Amino acid sequence: MNAEIIGVGSELLLGQIANTNAQYLSKKFAELGINVYYHTVVGDNASRLKAAIETAQKRADLIVFTGGLGPTKDDLTKETIASVLGVSLTTNEQALESIEAYFTQTNRVMTPNNKKQAIVLEGSTVLPNDFGMAPGMGITVDNISYMLFPGPPKELYPMYESYGQAYLLNKLEVKESIESRVLRFFGIGESQLETEIEDLLDAQTNPTIAPLAADGEVTLRLTAKHTDSNVAHQLLDQMEQSILKRVGDYFYGYDTTSLHNELINELMNQELTIASAESLTGGLFSERLTSIPGAGSIVNGAIVAYQNEIKQQVLGVQQQTLRNEGAVSEQCAIEMALGVKNLLKTDIGISFTGVAGPSKQEGKAVGTVYIGIAYKENKTHVYQLQLSGSRQGIRARTVNYGCHYALNLLKNN
Ligand code: ATP
Repeated sequence: MNAEIIGVGSELLLGQIANTNAQYLSKKFAELGINVYYHTVVGDNASRLKAAIETAQKRADLIVFTGGLGPTKDDLTKETIASVLGVSLTTNEQALESIEAYFTQTNRVMTPNNKKQAIVLEGSTVLPNDFGMAPGMGITVDNISYMLFPGPPKELYPMYESYGQAYLLNKLEVKESIESRVLRFFGIGESQLETEIEDLLDAQTNPTIAPLAADGEVTLRLTAKHTDSNVAHQLLDQMEQSILKRVGDYFYGYDTTSLHNELINELMNQELTIASAESLTGGLFSERLTSIPGAGSIVNGAIVAYQNEIKQQVLGVQQQTLRNEGAVSEQCAIEMALGVKNLLKTDIGISFTGVAGPSKQEGKAVGTVYIGIAYKENKTHVYQLQLSGSRQGIRARTVNYGCHYALNLLKNN
C-alpha cells in the first residue's frame, strides 16, 4: 500500500509552522508497513488543492489530508474533496450534537459557521474528535482510500490512535498484529552501530529494523507482524537478542525511557541517594532527575557551584587544586563529587565541570568536560570528555554522559 500525505494550510507554506503532522503520520504508517512515497503541502486554495488531489490519485492508494476541517471560509478540504470525488456532503448529527454540547458546556454562543464543522462526506466513516470539534473521516472511492484529519496535533494524534489506526487496519484488511519495540543506545555513534549490525539490517524482513539518531543517542525500532501477537513478540525477542549480543554494552532501555529515567529507576532499585555538584551544567542534571515523579526519595539536593569561591567554600575544593590545576580539571571534579556527597550525606556524589564556550577557559578548549563520581566509601571515578557543539548542546550532552556513567557504575558494582 502506497500513501501520500497532503498537508493543507497556507501557514505551512509561509513557514509559520512545520509539517509535524506528516512526520507523525509517516512514523505511524511505517509501523503498519504502509509506504509513504510523497508529502505534499498546499495552501488554503481550492484549485491548487484540487490539482494536488488529482496528482495524488495517480500515484497513491491511500491519500491522507490534515488541516482545513475548521469552521472558517478558508477551511475547504472536505468541500474540495467532495467535488473531486463527486460525493455529497451531509451533516453528521452526532458531530453536530457534540459541537452544540461543547458550546453549552463552555457557556459560549455558537456562531452559525460552527455547524460547518459537523458536515462530512456522505458515506464516510466518521472519526470522532475527542479533543476538538471537527470530526475526521475515512472513505474509499474507486479503490483509493481517503482519510481526513483536523490540523491541530492535539486533536489529530488522539484521533489517529483511538480511531484512525483501527479504521486503517479494518478497512485495508491488515489483519496482522503489529508489535513494535524501541531499543535505546548511548555512547555509540549511529554509523558504528549500523556497522556492527550491518548483516542484520541487510537481511531484515520481519521484524524490520529502523535506526534513528537524535540528541546524541541512537535508537532502533523493531517492528514485527504476525497474525498471532505472541509470535510477533517472539520475533522481536529473537531479533533483540541478536542485536544485543553485538552492541548490548551501549543499550540502556526500551521505548520512551531516557537515561535520567533509567538512572532514577536503578537508584530506586538499589535504594541509593544522589546529590550533584554542578558548575558547567548549572543545575541541569538535578533538573532532569527531579522532573521524574518519585525522585524525592533519591535526590537529596544539588549545589550549583559556578564560581571558584563556592567550589572552595561550600564544597571544600582545595585552593591548591584550583590554583595548580584549575576548576576544569580531573582533581577538581573529584573534590566536587566528594564534597557534595559528604555535605548532602548521600550514597553517590556526582560533579560536572568544564568549558561550555563560547571561549576557552584556563587555556582549556571549549567542550573539555570532567565528570566526577564519588561512590561507596569515597571511592572516586572521573571521566574526561571532549564534546563539540553549542553551549546548550555541550551542557545537555554532559548531563546525558553523567547519567550514562552513573548508570554503568551502578549496574556493574
Ligand atoms: P481548526 O478546527 O482548529 O480550524 P483545521 O482542521 O481547520 O482545525 P487548520 O485550520 O488547517 O486545521 O490548522 C489549525 C492549526 O493546526 C494550525 O494553526 C496549526 O497550529 C496546526 N496544524 C495544521 N496543520 C499542521 C501540520 N501539518 N503540522 C502541524 N501542525 C499543523
